[in-house]
Amino acid sequence: MAATSQKHETKSPAETQALAADLAAEMPPGTVLCLHGELGAGKTCFVQGLAKALGVRRPVGSPTFTLINEYRGRLPLAHVDLYRVRGAGDAFALGLEDYLFHFRGIVAIEWAERIAELLPAECWHVRLEPGATEDVRRVTVERPAQ
Ligand code: ADP
Ligand code: MG
Repeated sequence: MAATSQKHETKSPAETQALAADLAAEMPPGTVLCLHGELGAGKTCFVQGLAKALGVRRPVGSPTFTLINEYRGRLPLAHVDLYRVRGAGDAFALGLEDYLFHFRGIVAIEWAERIAELLPAECWHVRLEPGATEDVRRVTVERPAQ
């Protein structure tokens, strides 16, 4: 089956989190989810929704300096933020490959385009773009072919 793409619109952070939580139910262990969008687009907000759905208790923030944060839940969640990463070389140094190919949970990656050449073929892609008003986001969800 070909990859499918769906468009959504959310009107608040809570709606973005609820959308993420719905989608989390469809993500098997080993899912790599790439998040695209400018600063403030809602990528971290989306990951917070995933975390809630996975039963993560620890609050999810922006791992700006740590780059990778791992959370325990029904499935483990790895939250990766590559904002400060310049390319694949940096990513190797972080041990990111283990997460991309061997993690038995969900790996959510902000700024995944920085390591485009390292990504597995079967990724989910979520794109967050500004909407008509300040609290509106257009969210495009692309699932991998199955
Ligand atoms: P990013 O990780 O993409 O830089 P964040 O998730 O950290 O973005 O921040 C998104 C900001 O936008 C938050 O301050 C959030 O409250 C605000 N916001 C307003 N409307 C929405 C929405 N519909 N979805 C997600 N975030 C929203
Ligand atoms: Mg963020």
